[in-house]
Amino acid sequence: MDFKSFGFHPAVATGIAAAGYETPTPIQAQAIPAVMAGRDVMGLAQTGTGKTAAFALPILHRLQQGERGRVRALVIAPTRELAEQINDSFVTLGRQTRLRSVTVYGGVGVNPQVQKLKAGAEVVVACPGRLLDHIAQGTIDLSRLEVLVLDEADQMFDMGFLPDIRRVLKHLPPRRQTLLFSATMPIDIRTLAQDILVDPVTVQV
Ligand code: AMP
Repeated sequence: MDFKSFGFHPAVATGIAAAGYETPTPIQAQAIPAVMAGRDVMGLAQTGTGKTAAFALPILHRLQQGERGRVRALVIAPTRELAEQINDSFVTLGRQTRLRSVTVYGGVGVNPQVQKLKAGAEVVVACPGRLLDHIAQGTIDLSRLEVLVLDEADQMFDMGFLPDIRRVLKHLPPRRQTLLFSATMPIDIRTLAQDILVDPVTVQV
């Protein structure tokens, strides 16, 4: 199997080549067709399996069509380090797409984030606490959101973020595609998945 079989937009295909990816990893081979078909996905995968590109590539492909300057994809991650890594993947893989990705997390000034959000971004990669701050302050508009990704959901649960995530969910359009990635499936994540995923495809590596 190679990346050509997915039928990515040429700008996304260029990003894949620039990243040096030749063969999809197993999680990519399973998840990409489901994400491109618009399905909700429950992905059981650890870091290092290529799960970031498994959601980033189909999101970039999707966002090539449609409105610019609106937040249409939101990725929620447990730590700043992971948020930065995910953002780097969007930037690298999406270099030819002219799509913009912004990180949102605490422990750094809020104003640069507000400025970048104001300038217009299609992708936001966020940690839960600061994301809630932006929602409360009205500095992020999620009314056009099409795709939500919860990455490393079990780690977010371990860090006590599930109540924050439930609060964020109340502010998102209910009609959306939701992708949930977790290395393990504790009962709380299973319950969350049942609450927020609609007829999901489960992929596991
Ligand atoms: P992740 O599990 O998303 O953190 O990815 C782990 C590493 O694998 C990252 O450095 C990616 O750039 C790299 N990677 C992801 N997909 C592929 C691929 N299809 N071929 C080669 N490397 C990849």
